[in-house]
Amino acid sequence: MSTVEQNLKILREELHQHNYNYYILDKPELSDFDFDMKLRELQTIEKKNPEFFDANSPTQRVGGGITKKFSTVTHTNRMYSLDNAYSYEELADFETRVRKIIEDDIEFVCELKYDGASISITYKNGKLLRAVTRGDGFQGDDVTTNIRTIKSVPLELRGNFPDEFDIRGEIVFPTKEFEQLNNNRVKEGLQTYANPRNLASGTLKMQDSTEVAKRPLECLLYNMVGNNIKVETQFDALGNAENLGFKVPNISEKAKNMAEVIKFIEYWDVKRRDLEYETDGVVVKINSLHHQAELGYTAKSPRWAIAYKFKAETKTTLLNDITYQVGRTGAVTPVANLNAVELAGTIVKRASLHNSDQITKLDVRVGDYVFVEKGGEIIPKIVGVDLSKRTEDSVATEYIKNCPECGAELVRKENEAIHYCPNQLYCPPQIVGRIEHFISRKAMDIDGLGRETIEQLFRANLISNYSDLYTLKDQKANILILERMAQKSVNNMLASIEESKNQPFEKVLFALGIRHVGETVAKKLANYFKSLSSLENATFEELIEIDEIGEIIAKSVVEYFSDLSNIAILQKLQSSGLQFIIDVTEDSNKTDLLKDKAFVVSGIFTIYNRNEIKDLIEKNGGVVKSSISKKTDYVLAGDKMGPSKLEKAEKLSVPVISEEDFKQMIE
Ligand code: AMP
Ligand code: ZN
Repeated sequence: MSTVEQNLKILREELHQHNYNYYILDKPELSDFDFDMKLRELQTIEKKNPEFFDANSPTQRVGGGITKKFSTVTHTNRMYSLDNAYSYEELADFETRVRKIIEDDIEFVCELKYDGASISITYKNGKLLRAVTRGDGFQGDDVTTNIRTIKSVPLELRGNFPDEFDIRGEIVFPTKEFEQLNNNRVKEGLQTYANPRNLASGTLKMQDSTEVAKRPLECLLYNMVGNNIKVETQFDALGNAENLGFKVPNISEKAKNMAEVIKFIEYWDVKRRDLEYETDGVVVKINSLHHQAELGYTAKSPRWAIAYKFKAETKTTLLNDITYQVGRTGAVTPVANLNAVELAGTIVKRASLHNSDQITKLDVRVGDYVFVEKGGEIIPKIVGVDLSKRTEDSVATEYIKNCPECGAELVRKENEAIHYCPNQLYCPPQIVGRIEHFISRKAMDIDGLGRETIEQLFRANLISNYSDLYTLKDQKANILILERMAQKSVNNMLASIEESKNQPFEKVLFALGIRHVGETVAKKLANYFKSLSSLENATFEELIEIDEIGEIIAKSVVEYFSDLSNIAILQKLQSSGLQFIIDVTEDSNKTDLLKDKAFVVSGIFTIYNRNEIKDLIEKNGGVVKSSISKKTDYVLAGDKMGPSKLEKAEKLSVPVISEEDFKQMIE
């Protein structure tokens, strides 16, 4: 082994250990800063020595891989569903069925039923090989790249592991973070996510693993499947999994009889509210693996387990009013204002009604007594109307036609459930929301003014869009006469506004708040076009040709630039001195080696990963396109490139090059 290889090995092992201390044991031995330093060191060595690439290196946790289409994988061992029990009688029936087959003493294990997305992870020789969603139980989607970013999933095992086995678990989105995320979405005028379960499975299917890495997913494990699992009981299997470095929730208990099972259920039916993730029931399993084998499976589920479902708590209360919120993008959300009720431990006064379809479906009316439920979801929802209490003078709800804030007539786009206020320019919550987005940390990063100050400045006619921020310095006297405006804080605010002129073009582009242009897309577009003026002139056709830019984004960009009021704002921003171009000469990492060459990248690569390749092309002056055309200069082909692409390249006589060729081009 060379010294480099040895160094890599030591550093990787060290980082795996620190990761384990932090995420599994909850006993970090290194400060976050020192950890980051070590990780960076590893990244640097790996970059310089791509021949020692390891898919299970701790550096892979930050993501990087893009999956355009998840490949389908057949499960080695089928993933079954569970039979449900909704009452204690049904639990007793389960016991009777088991006792008919097993004549020995039986013992139960009680576990929580985690509410997320099921996953099966295969380990071979102690290394994570593959992670597959449940799918239809026979086949699922390969989401390995995304699963690697979850910190509590070990990439390499500890202790005495079987050569090859699957571990089963649930990927969950912790409730607190879920709420935070939704609160932010409300502020940005975006539709909120319905519940943590859908968000967890949605996140697993995201194409960009870097985005997945940013989300706080957790993996909770409950089962090991394979030939060499050297334990006799389910309970010991859980303990064993823990020894191998997995995160196994520490709440499972053995029960000698149904009475003990019920005690567990009643305890957790209350205590589950203190957990960091959601659970919708208790899974009762027969403990002995030998008994499990004897009991076997029905067509769809094991005979040795049953899921007892907690009841979602429902209350009725009076619907006082329906109000409508307008977000930064103009999206309107109807909100039910209720007589306060206590539900699942919290006081509920408001519930989301989602959109007009939902209101029609439930026929909810002001003055109705409605059923409010807080089950799997964090935000309470209205699940029905108590019609027996409806009064005769009740009138059907008519969805508003005009914006409650500015009076403009609402529009509803084809295939969308939400209504929008189209009055972008003059609708106050949209203006304030856009400015709030503009100054946010990931955009222009301006300190010293929050939503309240923005509203205040807006009401005082000192700003009417974000470009006005840059002329505020001429209005200092007028600002100081406003309430709660002190000299010092105003100075800080103005200094921060000035400072923001140094933010690079990609941040400016993100700050503009063009619909569907998030942080990643802004970066992409900035790198591709290099200046605002060339982006402004781009046509729809040109935009969709760019790698990872789809029709929705392209349409939104074109629409943005065809609006003259936006152009006026942009002109003001430009004359204020914001960065509207990328200065290529300034970045010493950049070269002209691939200047103006268009690449299409396809297949699986070994030296670099796909994102690195794209970065390298861009850093060296080239561009990445999504499909092959006459204008393509090179097709960079990895392993398993689609035959149709190859055919097209040949037909159009576009040179097909290998990863090696590419490496030489940029050296
Ligand atoms: P269902 O989807 O209702 O058929 O329930 C079966 C699913 O429950 C399995 O696919 C698992 O993903 C999930 N589950 C959650 N917690 C557990 C647990 N402790 N034991 C077994 N399955 C569980
Ligand atoms: Zn409006």
